[in-house]
Amino acid sequence: MIRQLRSSTISTASSPEAAAFSTADAAEYLALDDASTSVAGLVAAITRLCEDPNATCEELLLGLRHVGVVREAAAIELHRRTGRAFPSGRPGVVLDERDWRAWLQRSQADPSATTKLIAQAEQFGAHNYHPLPVVLTEGRGSWVTDVEGRRYLDMLAGYSALNFGHAHPELVAVAQEQVARLAFTSRAFHNDQLPRFCESLVRLCRRISGTPDGAAMDRVLPMNTGAEGVETAIKAARKWGYTHKGVPDGAAEVIVFADNFHGRTTTIVGFSTSPQSRAGFGPFAPGFVIVPYGDAQAVRQAVTPRTVAVLVEPLQGEGGVNVPPAGFLRELREICTEHRVLFMADEIQTGLGRTGSLFACDHEAVAPDVLILGKALGGGLLPVSAVVASSEIMSVFSPGDHGSTFGGNPLACAVACKAIELVEKGDFVENAARLGPYFMEKLRAIGGPKIKDVRGRGLMIGVELHTAAGSVHDCCEALLEHGLLCKDTRESVIRFTPPLCVTRDELDWATERIALVLG
Ligand code: PLP
Repeated sequence: MIRQLRSSTISTASSPEAAAFSTADAAEYLALDDASTSVAGLVAAITRLCEDPNATCEELLLGLRHVGVVREAAAIELHRRTGRAFPSGRPGVVLDERDWRAWLQRSQADPSATTKLIAQAEQFGAHNYHPLPVVLTEGRGSWVTDVEGRRYLDMLAGYSALNFGHAHPELVAVAQEQVARLAFTSRAFHNDQLPRFCESLVRLCRRISGTPDGAAMDRVLPMNTGAEGVETAIKAARKWGYTHKGVPDGAAEVIVFADNFHGRTTTIVGFSTSPQSRAGFGPFAPGFVIVPYGDAQAVRQAVTPRTVAVLVEPLQGEGGVNVPPAGFLRELREICTEHRVLFMADEIQTGLGRTGSLFACDHEAVAPDVLILGKALGGGLLPVSAVVASSEIMSVFSPGDHGSTFGGNPLACAVACKAIELVEKGDFVENAARLGPYFMEKLRAIGGPKIKDVRGRGLMIGVELHTAAGSVHDCCEALLEHGLLCKDTRESVIRFTPPLCVTRDELDWATERIALVLG
């Protein structure tokens, strides 16, 4: 059916091509929300609108608003035939030739491509993930296309690595230019991108609220993955404790929180409270004290003269999108200052606009001593992480103490500079601040017996389901059928973290589909 639309051969409802536009094809391609909309009716509507010189794409879209993909194909067809403009920003409306090609690809795709590729991954890859059964091949903005040409609204955004959306043209241009010029040097030599990156990141981090004149954010240590950033921060805190605080060698303690997620290295999983993250991977490094998240009193009680740092996610992501009680971060800051303990904020997921402010610490106007960034810092193109701290803290590292072959490479630095520039412009942050509460309200309005709680900040939102709602993974598979990419976290929460370029219309479109599954 779509094949006929795409090949732009339908001219009248009675043409042979239109006859091939069958309900069986529709069933294969689409989860039609409105079963009463017959495919023949759609063909007739498209044809009628194409022939009506006064009809607009907008009318067509409204007329076919419940038929998802067909609507898009129809709009494309109308555009191709008449040259009438698309209403811009409409959810799911594809706007250019590239999208059109994706549709064509769909008609030529091997219908078993998904099955074959998943089988290949299963056979040759380690089974350390349980991905949804979709194989993606292209992405742009908030939308991705699978190997069979189906499009999805990305509501996960690479666990917040894709804050700027897929293939942001400015990021792609910088990456292409840099990769062709100088991609890699190692830190055995200087490169011309690292200094720029360090200065831009210091400038950005000095904007964190509560940092008087930016005094505490002086130096950047670049790494690649988030876990490496966290490891770096732990090493910095321990050595700082020994060299600056007088903690006896080997006795440093770091306070962490229940339900934390800071990565997957052996040190980090050693202080996870997720049994699955730890099981079978011990022995673990000592020196971590776990207290309940959000409980400042417990932190106060856990501090000893050996405590060198508190490591905290200002809003827990993997742990189930847990928003701490108001005042918690501020109180942590006070405790840390009082006892000369480093406040280390893991903003790998929450930083760079995700929660509707530059950093999640900004919600309580709290400045950490050590800020750990990652994910979106790489613009959704590359793994880039960094630890930012004062000169005093960073002075614990001398040449040879710590490093990474790829950390600070020119390609990563060039892309990260552009990512910082995009964040600094403010649009992404503002969009998260504006649309986050709007989307949360819409999700709450779905109501129904399945949804237990909707929580979050900015565009970092968790929907907790009652156990009676069934498997959260199954719910995500059902959402996939409706054109939404989402992922479960823990046993009962679906995390919605769309790219920060998502539009209100797209979120409305998403809400309609979420309501079909969770309502
Ligand atoms: N810290 C936080 C808060 C995270 O959310 C994550 C990843 O989800 C990490 C650290 C680990 O980052 P990576 O997977 O890049 O090692």
